[in-house]
Amino acid sequence: MQYFPLFHRLNKGVCLIIGGGHVAQRRARALISAGATVHLISKQILPKLESFLIDSGASFDKQAVDLTKLANDYELVVAATNDKAVNLAIANYANLNRIPVNVVDDPAAGDFIFPAVIERASLTVAVSNSGNSPVLSRLLKQQIDAYIPSTFAALSDFVGNYRQRVKVSIPEDNIRKTFWENIIQGGVAEAIYMGKEQRAHDLFESALADPEKFNLQGEVYLIGAGPGDPELLTLKAFRLLQKADVVLYDRLVSAAVMAFIPPEVELIYVGKNRDNHAVPQDDINQLLVDQARKGKRVVRLKGGDPFIFGRGGEEIQTLVDFQVPFQIVPGITAASGCSAYAGIPLTHRDYAQSVQFVTGQLKSGTVDLDWAELISPGKTLVFYMGLKSLPIICESLITYGMQPDTHVALIEKGTTHEQRVLVSNLTEIESMLASAQVSSPSLFIVGSVVQLAEKLSWFNA
Ligand code: SAH
Repeated sequence: MQYFPLFHRLNKGVCLIIGGGHVAQRRARALISAGATVHLISKQILPKLESFLIDSGASFDKQAVDLTKLANDYELVVAATNDKAVNLAIANYANLNRIPVNVVDDPAAGDFIFPAVIERASLTVAVSNSGNSPVLSRLLKQQIDAYIPSTFAALSDFVGNYRQRVKVSIPEDNIRKTFWENIIQGGVAEAIYMGKEQRAHDLFESALADPEKFNLQGEVYLIGAGPGDPELLTLKAFRLLQKADVVLYDRLVSAAVMAFIPPEVELIYVGKNRDNHAVPQDDINQLLVDQARKGKRVVRLKGGDPFIFGRGGEEIQTLVDFQVPFQIVPGITAASGCSAYAGIPLTHRDYAQSVQFVTGQLKSGTVDLDWAELISPGKTLVFYMGLKSLPIICESLITYGMQPDTHVALIEKGTTHEQRVLVSNLTEIESMLASAQVSSPSLFIVGSVVQLAEKLSWFNA
């Protein structure tokens, strides 16, 4: 560690900035927003900076700095002129007077650097890479920023208000620590993130009434993992995954998404095994309840969106029956992900005014669908789970009146590095399939929008 991070209260003395350009302006803003009294010296001062100083009540001298005449009791000094020699002379003056100094563009010449800062009321996150690259620090700051819920400050205030009461009410250190962990990572915090403050207070009071019982109260997050590209996870999905104790997942969740799960989290696979036997749905439902009842934060991670051909509804129904608290996080469904990555807009003013998601799963050897209802001009059809039944689907669509030359696309492993897109038409796709050896998961899109793929393709280009 080249620099020690301190959070410094700037309310005693005056902070001196020498320089009047853009960097001086950023420093002035940062210091003043932290409550500092600022004095700035520079022969030239950007008009914007000057009016900012006036508005915020900071003093300034519009003249070249004379180091021999400077006071020696500044709280800190920022050397922000565009003259390297002057900056070094300022650093020298500060060193002689034992005032901490920051030298712009030359971190090694000074004592401290300005971190990239995330501010959410009482919460402050400061990022530095020891002055190597402010751009990189800002980038990291943005990523952390995106990860912290915008309402995090509300949580910070909320727990701050209860801190003393909890200390008195739960004297045992261990129980209190677990209690706080469960509050901050559990339903109370989630209620605050959702803007439901009253619910958060109610949950908190009932937790405080019986902390030991509360500590054993788990919950379930039913999360859509999207179609494969891990960057298609939502921020919420990512955040909740980081606090899981156990994750139940299946075949469709890509390895790249699984890599986002912290290593200490317990993983339970509930997909199909080598003999193609899946864990029965009832067993999965029960497993969710059992894990939550052990006091765990359980993530049920599903490919795409949990409510689109995902049986998410059944799992949630069981949780409702057993009164296990839960949240549902939608994901990008395969139709959205695959169509976007194949350059096929599912609707388009000139080609399709509606879109229908259909299951192509075979039931006793046939696809049990209302074919006549599916076919209408200006509609895009998206078949999930239709790879095996693709010949039947094409044949039936033609039988029920769809033009045989209607465009179709088969998208294999959409949004992943292995994505393949086969574009054809209703009559020819079957023979194409025979030579292409397409495997699961694959999505079948039918409709005139498919012809746009040639022009709009970008991911496979
Ligand atoms: N809940 C999921 C769908 C589950 S059904 C969702 O919203 O996407 C499983 C079917 O989804 C697969 O048979 C396939 O048709 C489709 N699918 C899921 N991921 C896919 C992907 N990356 N590429 C192509 N098809 C996919």
